[in-house]
Amino acid sequence: MKEISCKLLVIGAGPGGYVCAIRAGQLGVDTVIVEAGKPGGTCLNVGCIPSKALIHAAEEFEKVSHMVGGNSPLGISVTAPVLDLARTVAWKDGIVSRLNSGVAGLLKKAGVKTVQGWATFRDGKTVAVETETGVQVIRAETIVIATGSAPVELPSLPFGDAVISSTEALALSEVPKKLAVVGGGYIGLELGIAFAKMGAEVTVVEALPRVLAQYDAELTRPVVKRLAALGIEVMLGAKAKGAKGGALLVETSDGKNAKVAADKILVTVGRKPVTEGWGLDQIDLDMAGKFIRIDDQCRTSMRGIFAIGDVTGEPMLAHRAMAQGEMVAEIAAGHKRSWDKRSIPAVCFTDPELVTAGLSPEEAKAHGGEIKIGMFPFAANGRAMTKLGEDGFVRVVARADNHLVLGIQAVGQGASELAGAFGLALEMGARLEDIAGTIHAHPTQGEGFQEAALKALGHALHI
Ligand SMILES: Cc1cc2nc3c(=O)[nH]c(=O)nc-3n(C[C@H](O)[C@H](O)[C@H](O)COP(=O)(O)OP(=O)(O)OC[C@H]3O[C@@H](n4cnc5c(N)ncnc54)[C@H](O)[C@@H]3O)c2cc1C
Repeated sequence: MKEISCKLLVIGAGPGGYVCAIRAGQLGVDTVIVEAGKPGGTCLNVGCIPSKALIHAAEEFEKVSHMVGGNSPLGISVTAPVLDLARTVAWKDGIVSRLNSGVAGLLKKAGVKTVQGWATFRDGKTVAVETETGVQVIRAETIVIATGSAPVELPSLPFGDAVISSTEALALSEVPKKLAVVGGGYIGLELGIAFAKMGAEVTVVEALPRVLAQYDAELTRPVVKRLAALGIEVMLGAKAKGAKGGALLVETSDGKNAKVAADKILVTVGRKPVTEGWGLDQIDLDMAGKFIRIDDQCRTSMRGIFAIGDVTGEPMLAHRAMAQGEMVAEIAAGHKRSWDKRSIPAVCFTDPELVTAGLSPEEAKAHGGEIKIGMFPFAANGRAMTKLGEDGFVRVVARADNHLVLGIQAVGQGASELAGAFGLALEMGARLEDIAGTIHAHPTQGEGFQEAALKALGHALHI
């Protein structure tokens, strides 16, 4: 049995863990990171990056499909396109593999030692790693738990055969003729829309009365419209009960039994923190429900142990994990840091895309005080028109008294790229006048942001 010691030990090389290790290494902290799989975690290997690659390929395929027979208003005509999903997946795997090497290289450049294997706590300062060459014991002054999350399995639909999670959906070699998606959250809809564009007949089964229920109905309306246009059937208030004979068994909202024919059943009913199998019982940390409880410095209830990323709760997003990782590295290096972020923007890569940062109108109202809302439709934005992307809008929510911006949302084709501007405005404490008074380049969809602020001030120019 080999033994090493270090100042900082990070368990898990997802976006939270690898960013933490890189930053700690940059600051001269003697750092070791342990990873059982490939560098980059869920996000890089089976999450953010591969899903966006597949979504992009599906978008391109659908765009070209609309040009068949010379029906495109752009004046482009093509003969029927063919999709070879196995090649698409190989292209996606190539991107993932390049990024795996990139993360490994960045860790090395920062002077971080990587240990490959599964880590288990022995006590609050010691971890044992099952490596290919035997057990490696690592002692550390400070340990960061960044073990991430895994897909939730439904007892009535265990993963295997035709029942798949997002991980398998991203590695199919053929487009299923009929795909049932259980769960109308962002992962289910992102993938469901992509497969519909690639030619699958898609049915979404959602237990709640709305899809994308965490967003307000006004914001999701253009997505719901697009689902219908893509021929995606949405069963609301419906419960998936099991699978039998090539069909998903469903209890509909009126209590009747229905069968949805499906070659594949994609279950996307949420993700759960990875809190088992690594000796949580050895260290007995306080929990916040199923997540590890942390304070505003990501400290757990045990001295010298931090936790970051999906294992610590919602929103389970890569950029939250990264920001926590960077902060914890700096704390480990002796800097004074605590969580002071004003917003964690969230993007939903559906068609059209959704972006939210800060408070929705309802949330802002619930905080008390009067608010102003400015909304600008992409139908009045020149750039959106040139992209055939007129559906959607930008919405700005601000305090009525001093015009401090509280939240910004958008729905529209390509709206994800506005997330940076929205986050920056909130982080800098912008007022409506700051956004309205910033020159936004023409013609861009960003002008919709400026116009929404102008609208809230009562003098939008282009509507
Ligand atoms: C299909 C899909 C699409 C997504 N799209 C987006 C998106 O567009 N934007 C976004 O922000 N987020 C997205 N997410 C969520 C995002 O992937 C997660 O929020 C993010 O990966 C969390 O990072 P993390 O570092 O906390 O954990 P993870 O990325 O889950 O990484 C944890 C790592 O720890 C390792 N590990 C766990 N336990 C041990 C152990 N005991 N020993 C050694 N190694 C261990 C695991 O192997 C894993 O590599 C998506 C997720 C999915 C599934």
